Amino acid sequence: MKLTLPLLRVTYDRLRHIAPFNRWQLPPSQAVKFLLSDEVDHWAATCDDPVSIKFCSGRAWTLSMVDMCMAHEMIHVRQAIKGKLGDTDKEHHDKFFHQMASAVCKECGFDPEDFGG
Ligand SMILES: [Zn+2]
Repeated sequence: MKLTLPLLRVTYDRLRHIAPFNRWQLPPSQAVKFLLSDEVDHWAATCDDPVSIKFCSGRAWTLSMVDMCMAHEMIHVRQAIKGKLGDTDKEHHDKFFHQMASAVCKECGFDPEDFGG
C-alpha cells in the first residue's frame, strides 16, 4: 500500500486515543513532524528536537505494519519528550523501551517478536 502523510497523522492520532498511549501525554499530531523517505534501510525512525517520525515509503507496507511501526515509534516519541531518546540504536531500545513495548504489545495485541527493538 502507498503511504501518505495524512495516513501517518491519523494513525498517530488513533493510537494516541487508546491505552497505553492515552496515559503518556504524547504531543498532538499537529506538534509532530511526519516525513516520508524513499530509503529502504529501515522501516521508520523518530528524531527529537523537533519531534519527528519518518516512515520509509520504499518498503512493502501493510496497514497492520503501519499501525505496529507507528506504535513502536510512539515509544520513541515518549523517550524524546522525556529527553531519554539517546543517539544510538542501542540507546533507543533500552530497558525503558522494552518495558513500554511489552505494555503496548499486551494492550494492542501486537506480537512482541515482530514489534522490534
Ligand atoms: Zn525503534
